[in-house]
Amino acid sequence: MEEMAREECCRSVCPLANCQVRLDHSQLLVHLISEHLVETPGVSFGLRMRQVESGERTLLPLAPQQLIVGQDHCLCLLNWAGNGSRNLAMPQCRLPLSYRSLTGHLPVLVMVRRIPWPALPSSSTLHEDNKMRYLYVLWLAAPATRRPVTARLGFLNRELHCSLRVRRQLRNFDSPMEFNKYLLGADRNYLTLSERQLQQMCCQNDSGCFLEVVILGVPN
Ligand SMILES: [Zn+2]
Repeated sequence: MEEMAREECCRSVCPLANCQVRLDHSQLLVHLISEHLVETPGVSFGLRMRQVESGERTLLPLAPQQLIVGQDHCLCLLNWAGNGSRNLAMPQCRLPLSYRSLTGHLPVLVMVRRIPWPALPSSSTLHEDNKMRYLYVLWLAAPATRRPVTARLGFLNRELHCSLRVRRQLRNFDSPMEFNKYLLGADRNYLTLSERQLQQMCCQNDSGCFLEVVILGVPN
């Protein structure tokens, strides 16, 4: 009984919306492949998956108006080849034969959530501009790593002009988001943008934009 309780405490809830399965961090990839790679009832869409090296650029279409408010969306699963360090993270286990080459990769989920203003904590001081109706929060969720892994997030408009590039750290998927932390801008994991900021940068006329994700690796 004690052993079961201990095992349960080391498991984390799947980062995808509407999935409450608790997972060991070494089983995230096999779970995503078996449960979310194709269209899954209750989950917003089938997962897109890509294998990337350090410094490799991935462009993901982002249509902010289409995001369901208050729900976590996964734009893509990036299997990062790592930085050559074998003990950076636990290997992904129990993979089907055709995916075994990803055992030493780190599965990184590109996540976004659209939040309405009324859902924000009342202590927030960010209400000055009444015209802003939503916040967009972006982050990268991954199994725990022994050292922090850095990535670059960028926004490009439809003409592929870049408006913003920032660095953020991958976030361990084992704990829920803390609103106050990232609203104060003190968090290394989240990128928070208002609707107006997003529109000014790249989403005028609701045409959508591209999110650029580059996993940089472990800083020296
Ligand atoms: Zn799941």
